[in-house]
Amino acid sequence: MEFSQQLSTHPKSAEQRAEILANPGFGDHFTDHTAVIDWTQDAEGKGGWHDARVEPYGPIAMDPASAVLHYGQEIFEGLKAYRHADGSVWTFRPEANAERFNKSAVRLALPELPEADFIESLRRLVSVDKAWVPSGDGEALYLRPFMIATEAFLGVRPSREVSYRVIASPAGNYFGGELKPVSIWLSTTYARAGRGGTGEAKCGGNYAASLAAQIEAESHGCKQVLFLDPFNDNAVEELGGMNVFFVFADGTLVTPALNGTILHGVTRSSVLQLARDRGLTVQERKITIDEWRDAAADGTLTEVFACGTAAVITPIGELKTAEGSIACPAPGPDSVAMGIRAELLGIQTGTVEDTHGWLTRLA
Ligand SMILES: *Cc1c(COP(=O)(O)O)cnc(C)c1O
Repeated sequence: MEFSQQLSTHPKSAEQRAEILANPGFGDHFTDHTAVIDWTQDAEGKGGWHDARVEPYGPIAMDPASAVLHYGQEIFEGLKAYRHADGSVWTFRPEANAERFNKSAVRLALPELPEADFIESLRRLVSVDKAWVPSGDGEALYLRPFMIATEAFLGVRPSREVSYRVIASPAGNYFGGELKPVSIWLSTTYARAGRGGTGEAKCGGNYAASLAAQIEAESHGCKQVLFLDPFNDNAVEELGGMNVFFVFADGTLVTPALNGTILHGVTRSSVLQLARDRGLTVQERKITIDEWRDAAADGTLTEVFACGTAAVITPIGELKTAEGSIACPAPGPDSVAMGIRAELLGIQTGTVEDTHGWLTRLA
């Protein structure tokens, strides 16, 4: 698809940009432009994408009756653009994000966007806002594609007007500062997903539903929530926005199997591949909270970590529950978690050879 381009007449000055890039945080600041593609369905029910464009970043004018504002028909993605030493800018496995975006679209009754248009929208936005890609250690430009139902209509049916957009935000280290093991809260009050629900889709509604659990977690001094499947022997599912992994003393790497309620993380699948490359035994299977507790107690559990695009790999130091806490061994420098983390970051930032063809150049 051809993109038109309208440059911002009020971009941030080089000084303002430098100030932001000196301390980017996460999700606080946005670049000067946005990419947009609209979709409309005609009277015969035939839909089509049109008006692909890059335009100045700014508020969206929207009818108050727009479907997304009432029924939450929305999906999103998250991936990063990394600056390599020669100044070029690359992204990691965007085809996987495009594929997952389309699966989410089908679940939320939104139109699918061709993979080529998804990737081209990232390329066009990053090309015009290339100066916003940070170059510091562990820093990247976070890309947030999303799709919203914009038709002004209060009846409940799939929207006949949809807007796809991409915004970009310079990102530092997700949890701030050095890599400290995090404490997570075990929610037994709330579930994230259920059979036949939207757990596999990356949709705003899943995050809205996780916020009450997040508040509960914060009241117990935790930043993240672990969700279980209470109808399946309290099997471990995942965190609100990250998948989880366990390393056992015999070198086995275990992560919950994708059972319809767990998000198919791109980082998850990359960690599994890198673990196989290292000759580790990899198991995607059911792991219950009782197994976790017992293995932590008898010392057979050696590492627990979470993974996702935003925070890459984060060690879990403690699981707090209503019945007391389970201490998790902190992964040392020679741990599986830290080894795979360094390799993954190395591939993404161009210092380790990309043997799987995971990188795509954006600018
Ligand atoms: C996005 C997300 C993840 C992580 O996926 P990545 O592709 O690795 O970033 C995990 N769980 C949930 C619920 C998510 O929304």
